[in-house]
Amino acid sequence: MLLFQCSHITYLNPCTYGIDLWLFSSTSESKARFRIVFMLMAKASSSLMLGLQGEIHPAGKQEGANWAALGTNSCVQCRDSRGRIEVPPERLLIMSANSLLEWTDNTWNPVRGCSKVSPGCAHCYAEAFAERFRGVPGNAFEYGFDVRLVPWKLLEPFQWTSSKRVFVNSMSDLFHDEVPDRYIVAAFEVMAAADWHTYQILTKRPARMRKMLKNDLEFAAGLPHIWWGVTVENKKHGLPRLDCLRECEVTMRFLSCEPLLEDLGIVCLDGINWVIVGGESGPGARSVQKDWIVSLRTQCKSAHIPFYFKQWGGFPKRRLGCQLDGTEYKALPAMPDLKAPSLAQRRQIEGELHKQLWAVGILEQAA
Ligand code: SF4
Repeated sequence: MLLFQCSHITYLNPCTYGIDLWLFSSTSESKARFRIVFMLMAKASSSLMLGLQGEIHPAGKQEGANWAALGTNSCVQCRDSRGRIEVPPERLLIMSANSLLEWTDNTWNPVRGCSKVSPGCAHCYAEAFAERFRGVPGNAFEYGFDVRLVPWKLLEPFQWTSSKRVFVNSMSDLFHDEVPDRYIVAAFEVMAAADWHTYQILTKRPARMRKMLKNDLEFAAGLPHIWWGVTVENKKHGLPRLDCLRECEVTMRFLSCEPLLEDLGIVCLDGINWVIVGGESGPGARSVQKDWIVSLRTQCKSAHIPFYFKQWGGFPKRRLGCQLDGTEYKALPAMPDLKAPSLAQRRQIEGELHKQLWAVGILEQAA
């Protein structure tokens, strides 16, 4: 027989509370604790966010000793005060699967945390989300937005049973200075091995990417299932990134012009395979002008480049939607026809890679 007990309500931070539930089995000493996390985001959207955390106490162990992580921060439902489903942007950040981003299927975060490099970072959603949990023991973002490696996430793509488009590091920048070269290489070794997914790498630090592609990452440069992108939010910071990306000898390059902060003028799109454009969303969002977007749409059209208009932005972003002159522009590049191998094959590939990464000390930190 299984028994439930509600132990107490926990204050986590000014907008976050948890209710702890214990699950007992009458036939063994095992027990599990679940914490339902409520995030009250009154300021942001009058919405209520529910999450689930869990831990298992193996039979015979003392409370608090050797707990196995069951999973943290799986968002289960969000509703606003009128009962409508509300999806705050932060929700995107805590889902490692079934991403709500339309242009990708899953997010994968083997690194967490980052630091700001340019005006596009001013209202970084990842930072806003991560800092909410700073100091919350056991939370994935206990250390807020500080850069942290998450080695136990490295092999996650092997767990997905079908072929996905994967946005790599929605909560960070893989080429951040504080991420060691060998760790970046390990992430690309996973991408090269789990080659039935399509990976979308987006960075604001392309100089390091370009440098690594000439040596440590040369093996990944020509792989068609890895897409390499840079953020181009303005002329001063974005256009040099575009030049840098163009110098990378890779198969597929894309631009994310989001949040678009000014008219980019005439942009050289040689060698670019996809352009995503969007206005900033969330509280305090900086507005985007229609003619900036139309200019990019026109340039993409004449260069035969797929153009994806994500959103007008603002707050709440659903108010303005994503139509441009009455039409939604959601063009994607041609996708490689990829099929996930069987579970047995995936396990075999994962096992071999696990051994290699363990041997070089990458996975030790996750033990
Ligand atoms: S680079 Fe991206 S993740 Fe890092 S601070 Fe800027 S917006 Fe946030």
